[in-house]
Parts: sequence; C-alpha cells; structure tokens
Amino acid sequence: MQYVTVKGHRPGPHLTVIAGVHGTEYTSIAAAREFARSLDAATVQGTITVAPLVNPAAFWARSPFVVPLDGNNLNRSFPGNPDGPPTEVLAHHLTATFIEPTDYLLDLHAGDLPEALEPFALYDESAVEAQARAMAIAYGLGHVVRQTRAARTVGGSTSAVAADLGKPAITAESGQNGILDRAAVDQHLAGLAGVCAHLGLLPGAATTAVQPREHEGWHWLRTPVAGWWEPTVSVGQPVAAGELIGVVGDVLGDARHEVHAPEDGVPLFITSSPAVGADGLLIGIARGL
Ligand SMILES: [Zn+2]
Repeated sequence: MQYVTVKGHRPGPHLTVIAGVHGTEYTSIAAAREFARSLDAATVQGTITVAPLVNPAAFWARSPFVVPLDGNNLNRSFPGNPDGPPTEVLAHHLTATFIEPTDYLLDLHAGDLPEALEPFALYDESAVEAQARAMAIAYGLGHVVRQTRAARTVGGSTSAVAADLGKPAITAESGQNGILDRAAVDQHLAGLAGVCAHLGLLPGAATTAVQPREHEGWHWLRTPVAGWWEPTVSVGQPVAAGELIGVVGDVLGDARHEVHAPEDGVPLFITSSPAVGADGLLIGIARGL
C-alpha cells in the first residue's frame, strides 16, 4: 500500500490523512493524492502521513461500500482482526499502521456510486471530542454531526475507533455518486488546509468562514421491503417531523412503503439509485435544523 510520511524540519504533532476506505469515493481519493504531492518538509511543523487509497481491492473492482474479497464494509470492521476474513485483516493492518501511531486522524469520504450527498464532517463522542469538534469545524463544511457512543449509527468506523483510542478524529465527506467533481475535490483540499492550519502543522490562517450547522446525531432510515425508491426531498434541504420524504413502490408504481421524517432534520445523504433491497439504506437525516 502506497503512502507518504513527511517529517517537517520543525517539531509538532502527527496528523494522518487516509482516503479510499470506500474505493469508489473518488473526490476524497483525488484530494488525498494532491495533498500528498503538495507537502514540503520545509513548511511542515510536525509530521503528516497521507495514504490516499487504503482499500485498493475495492478501487480496482469499482466496488461501492464493500471489499469485493468478502463483501464486507471496511468502515464497519475497525479495529479489525488479524485472524478474521480479508476485510478484518485489512482493518487490523490499517489500525496498526495509521491509527495507533498518529496524534490526529482525518478520514476522507464522499457519497458512494448510488449516493447523493451534502458535504459534512462527523466526529464521535470521546474524551477528546472537543478537539475532534474543532477539527470538524476547521474543515469548513456546512454541517457537523456528533455521534454518541450509545447512538452510533456506524460502528467499527475509523473515527469511532480513533475516538476510543483517545485520538481526535473526523470523517469528512464531500462529493457524490462516484463523480470526480473538481469543486468537491477542492472542498476537501480547503478542509485539509484548514485543519492543518488549525493544528499548526502548516502555515496559513485557519479558515472558519463557514459556521456549520451542528447536529446531535442522526437517523438512518431503511426500507422493510425491496422496490423502486423515489425520494421526494433533496440533500441539504431541511425536512419537518412527519413529512413524507419518499416512497418505495413496485415496478408499475404502486406504493409499497411510505417513508416519513422521524423528526426535524437535514438529509445529508440519500440513496439516489431507485433500486433498493429489503432493509436497504434510503437516507441519513441529521437531527435538528
Ligand atoms: Zn465512504
């Protein structure tokens, strides 16, 4: 696995940036590649490690969400197990190589191939969550989600495991639908610059021009039945409690399941493919407006 570590001429903290945990979230991988090549030891105060593509099997197979070797989601498999199936072996390797040795962790993501997404940063409840929240704000995206341990919609993620190890970490998401969109790449690059300035790793002003909407947790809604999914709302557009937000129907258009917002919130990702299986994920709504 290719990665770079740039040790600055002056001492400081160690930040690790990983991307490609999901192999078809190209804007995040592209941003990490460009960021790695931009680093110069003369201007780094501390150490920066960048691993742009930590799940190469998924990248080469163009496999959304899962590692093709065993069909498991890498970002539900941390901290991993050296004696487990391939995805858990990989998670164990990544934990040992990138998470345990670092002081701070940034994990870059985007909406996957069938996923529309409004840019956001996520951090987990932990003893170091104040530092993680400050990193999330420094990344400069419009929404920040805090995830409590009790209400983790995502277990076994990089940022959750880092949080449990006492390392401030965020998951940052920009881009959608597997499109290598330049503006979304630039949004990630601006976020990287913002966090590095905030941590004192690189010169520059910490840009917090954007005051994000902060959300206390979120709802991930699934469909009990398979069918044709037609959302009636858009990412980034607030929804009200009880509002109809989409319908799962049959092929001829008859409704099988109506989906309503459980409370006021903002959809940050929506499955954009109409094809959903039983128990398929439909939408993620961050709580509060
Ligand atoms: Zn992802």
